[in-house]
Amino acid sequence: LVNDSYGHHVGDQLLVALAPRLLGAVRECDAVARMGGDEFAVVGLDVDGTLDLDALVARLEQVWAEPVALERGPLTVSGSVGVVRGSSPGDTAESLLRDADVALYRAKAVQRGSSVVFDESLRADLARGAQLDSELRGALGRGELSLAFQPVVDLVSERIEGAEALLRWTSPQLGVVAPSDFVPVAEDLGLIAPIGAWVVEEVCGTLAAWRDEGVVDGDFSLAVNVSGRQVRPGFAALVADALARHGLPARVLHLEITESVLLDESSCTALALDELLALGTPLLLDDFGTGFSSLSYLHRLPLNGLKIDKSFVDQVSSSGRLRTLVASMLAMAEGLHMSVVAEGVETQEVADTLRGLGCRRAQGYLWARPLPLEEFVALARE
Ligand code: C2E
Ligand code: CA
Ligand code: CA
Ligand code: CA
Repeated sequence: LVNDSYGHHVGDQLLVALAPRLLGAVRECDAVARMGGDEFAVVGLDVDGTLDLDALVARLEQVWAEPVALERGPLTVSGSVGVVRGSSPGDTAESLLRDADVALYRAKAVQRGSSVVFDESLRADLARGAQLDSELRGALGRGELSLAFQPVVDLVSERIEGAEALLRWTSPQLGVVAPSDFVPVAEDLGLIAPIGAWVVEEVCGTLAAWRDEGVVDGDFSLAVNVSGRQVRPGFAALVADALARHGLPARVLHLEITESVLLDESSCTALALDELLALGTPLLLDDFGTGFSSLSYLHRLPLNGLKIDKSFVDQVSSSGRLRTLVASMLAMAEGLHMSVVAEGVETQEVADTLRGLGCRRAQGYLWARPLPLEEFVALARE
């Protein structure tokens, strides 16, 4: 199945331009059929055992190697290919197309424009993915989500100054699922807004209780991760409402956003960021240093802090180059009046090096892993 990147908006012009290329890529004995929309099936016959499947796929990839000349100008097209080899007498047109579709689905997930050959493990992956989707849809309602809290430590006093709240999902069906596995799925399924709203509410309620019970002092801050999909007009109002209901000042709730949010130049993201800045909840740039154009927007948006990614922190003690990079990040942050938290500190040596460079705050396994609520409370009370 060949699939271009223009969804179902493939114009007649495009089809007319691509059809001869497609026909040129196959042999006379092969068949090409349009399956609907922008999907095509190519059937390569192999009566005498001479069909070279790799060569056929390579020729198909040439179909969209060159831009297509349209009236409005050249258009670059990309396609993905799912390949299935029919061999057993049990294969039917339906079963072959279904398996080709599974391979195509995977090809698109791996990387646009790639080709994937079907094998049975793909079907199992797909089933697992479908199960993750369906379990995740009900996870919030069934109370399967919880938060873990990782302390943020002052590198000089070694005191706990705050914490980051991290989502945890324990599924009765799937076991413990890592946020790196389910947060992107939640984003795709449109579930991150309700889940994110729950996180904000939970964090505000928890922080208010800790302040009341004297577990933490008035300056202690809790940080939540905010997905780009949540940064929409109205999100700030949701946060403001949660803060107000729990009697919290805006400065104690930190919002961690990633660079992708800043790169999104849509007006609705810009409006949402303005609303958040007006609200006064500190905005921290997460995973700092891993993006592409970190510096260009730092002057446009008055962010309150940076979290230096673990990939810089890890070898800061052994690599002079990394030390120089981290030192310049710290100098830049200071000049811009931004706070800095170093992420993923696992050894005393790294902590000492960071302190030596003038980094004030850090989090990492050296002090604590993300902890269940009761364990965090016990640690904070020590
Ligand atoms: P992140 O925001 O960069 O969170 C830091 C991750 O590093 C956490 O992984 C944390 O457990 C881990 N970590 C902390 N210290 C160390 C260390 O010393 N060594 C190592 N190896 N790892 C350390 P976690 O909890 O698995 O979360 C992964 C990611 O999932 C987060 O990365 C964040 O992007 C996302 N996430 C977590 N909770 C939420 C949430 O409530 N909402 C959204 N949108 N995303 C979330
Ligand atoms: Ca398509
Ligand atoms: Ca984070
Ligand atoms: Ca991070």
